[in-house]
Amino acid sequence: MEIIHVTAECYPVAKAGGLGDVLGALPKYQVDMGHVARVVMPMYRTKFLYNNQWEVVHKGASNLGSRWFDYTIIREETNKLGFELYLVDINGLLDREKVYGYNDDTERFMSFQIAVVDWISKWEHLPDVLHVHDHHTAMIPFMMQHCFAFRELSGIPSVLTIHNGQYQGQFGWDKSTYIPAWDTWKAGLLEWNGSINPLAAGVKCAWKVTTVSQSYMDELRVMSNGLEPLFEYERGKCTGILNGIDVDVWDPAKDSYLHNHYSVDSVTEGKLTNKKELCETFQLDIDKPLFVFIGRLVGEKAADLLPQAIGDSLYYIGRKMNFLILGSGDPQVEGQLDVMKNISWGDYNVYIGYNEQLSHLMYAGADFLLMPSRVEPCGLNQMYSMRYGTVPVVRKTGGLKDTVIDYGDPGGYGVTFNHAAVGDITEAIYRGVQLYNNREKFREVRKTMMGLDFSWVRSAKEYLDLYKSLK
Ligand code: ADP
Repeated sequence: MEIIHVTAECYPVAKAGGLGDVLGALPKYQVDMGHVARVVMPMYRTKFLYNNQWEVVHKGASNLGSRWFDYTIIREETNKLGFELYLVDINGLLDREKVYGYNDDTERFMSFQIAVVDWISKWEHLPDVLHVHDHHTAMIPFMMQHCFAFRELSGIPSVLTIHNGQYQGQFGWDKSTYIPAWDTWKAGLLEWNGSINPLAAGVKCAWKVTTVSQSYMDELRVMSNGLEPLFEYERGKCTGILNGIDVDVWDPAKDSYLHNHYSVDSVTEGKLTNKKELCETFQLDIDKPLFVFIGRLVGEKAADLLPQAIGDSLYYIGRKMNFLILGSGDPQVEGQLDVMKNISWGDYNVYIGYNEQLSHLMYAGADFLLMPSRVEPCGLNQMYSMRYGTVPVVRKTGGLKDTVIDYGDPGGYGVTFNHAAVGDITEAIYRGVQLYNNREKFREVRKTMMGLDFSWVRSAKEYLDLYKSLK
């Protein structure tokens, strides 16, 4: 099968979160299974671009409303990521350092999608499936079916995967001219609540829609930032496929970011050595259980609850544990977490920013990983932490609910709680400390987690079965 993934992120080319990890791994596993998988993404100005060799495969031109633009498609020459990687260069729009966060993101991702569809419409053959990811690429199924210039692509089966349904990319009808000449009788497919809503258009037009866990699929029907009735109506074509993790990148026995490697047999000493490195760097106490948080400091992750939950834990449970936070996001939360260093010195520390290397050391050196998320479509952090023998402390939502069983339940290995509320988080931390102090149980839980299989093989197979059902 020939599968084309269109995405805004792909690790290690450009990553802002889990979407990047998924696109760096899934295509590789599809190639291993004997298929052709190609990834097409914007050509941001990241290190990966400058450190690799590229060949130009296509040059074209198109327009975004009244703005004409040239685009160039380049291909990484050696397939070093394990699949074919194509970048789309559009000067003035995609040539930026960051993936998102610019005032003209609508223009950037619309022009990217137009260039991709225009390029594919010039191919001499049609791929077997076009797989688009999140709202930045979700207009493509509509464009393939209802833009006059691309109608020959309408027979290509399309799949939309929703990695995060909170962001939908809405823009006003005054920008409808951005879409290349289209059948205006089909305006209803673009419309949601008075705007053009790319994610809604993708759900309506893609042949199949998937989310990254089954529980998140169920949740979208009751909580999806306004699209609830749409998910209810389209439930027949929607399924949940749990993400996997790239076990080549995320392996404590050979992780290239770690100085001290370990496996399930050497987990106790291995984690201790990594914890020592962490505690020395951040002035923490190696003898106390270490709880960490890694992620975007935003409401979805309930990062706003962390300052009080940490403060309450240290106050009410006593200074029996340490905390270390890595993340960036909401400036107010960043500020609160930073200020806390002054009052909880020795028990708490924070690194504001994005740091891939530190994140690996934290998965390896921590005892517990906190994920109090309000929304978690799949969540990769808990799977990484389990592979590194770090006990996840998670709210029962989305993919967290599907992957973590409480240690109090038969066969369980994590700490789970019900509400994204300070009291629930503090109680879960308390239960974590109790588990840590029960050394025998703690060792058993670590070994159980490290033996779990979250590799991509199972999920990659589920995607292939889905593609095949579309033929
Ligand atoms: P989301 O995509 O919602 O941000 P996921 O759990 O799916 O959340 O994926 C998050 C990924 O981003 C993980 O690989 C995590 O380790 C990484 N990550 C998030 N924030 C940071 C940070 N500040 N520094 C390093 N890695 C981070």
